Amino acid sequence: MSELTVVVENLRKGYGPGDARVEVLRGVSLQIQKGETVALVGKSGSGKSTLLSLLAGLDQADAGTITIANRNITSMDEGELTQFRAANMGIVFQQFHLVSTLTALENVLLPLELLRRPRASETARSLLEAVGLSHRSHHLPSQLSGGESQRVAIARALAINPSILFADEPSGNLDEETGEKVMDLLFRMVEATGTTLVLVTHDPELARRCGRVVHLEHGGLA
Ligand code: ADP
Ligand code: MG
Repeated sequence: MSELTVVVENLRKGYGPGDARVEVLRGVSLQIQKGETVALVGKSGSGKSTLLSLLAGLDQADAGTITIANRNITSMDEGELTQFRAANMGIVFQQFHLVSTLTALENVLLPLELLRRPRASETARSLLEAVGLSHRSHHLPSQLSGGESQRVAIARALAINPSILFADEPSGNLDEETGEKVMDLLFRMVEATGTTLVLVTHDPELARRCGRVVHLEHGGLA
C-alpha cells in the first residue's frame, strides 16, 4: 500500500516589497509517496532552493499548505516546527553546514542528543562507519576534505532515521569524481533505510537516479 508523506497545495512564495516583489512560487502543488525518491530540477533561479526550504520548514510560505507525515507544517509555530523538523527531517546542504567547533562524531551525535535518543553514541559511530569515516571521528570539519565533510553531513542527516531527507545540490561543492562517490553513498543509504528523498539538482544524470523528476519552471511544476 502506498502512503502519501508529502502533500503540497497551491504553495506561493515571493520576495521583496511592493513593485520590486518577485513571485518565485506561483501555486505549486505536489504529492510524494513514502519511500519515493524525487529529483527537483530547474534552471538557476527557478525557485528550487526556495521550494526545498519551505518543505523543510526553514522558511514561511505566503500562501498554501504543506503536509508532511500527516502534519500541516504551515500552521505550526516556530517551536513546534523546530521539534517536528528535528524528529522527522534530515537536511543536506551544498555547503555542508557542519558545526565547526564539533568533531565529525559530535556533529553526527548532535541531532540524536537533542532528541535524547537512547544509544546515541552507538548510532553515531555506526553511521560514521557506514559512510566510511570511522578513522576521522575526532577530526574537526576544518580538517576534513569536501567529500568527507559531505559524508559527515549525510550521516548527521540520517542519524535520527528521518521520514524524509531533503538535499539541496549536495554534490555542488565537490569535484566530479568525489561528488559521484558521495551521491552513490547517499542513494545507497536512502535505499537501505527506505527514506523518502527530495533532491534538488541541476545535473540531469543525478536526477535520473531518482524514481521521479519534477521540473520547476515559471513558478510552477511542469
Ligand atoms: P534556485 O535554487 O532554483 O537557483 P532560488 O530558490 O534560490 O532558486 O531563488 C529563486 C529566486 O528567488 C531568485 O530570483 C532569487 O534571486 C530569489 N531569492 C531567493 N531567496 C531570496 C531572498 N531571501 N530574498 C530575495 N530574493 C530571493
Ligand atoms: Mg538553489
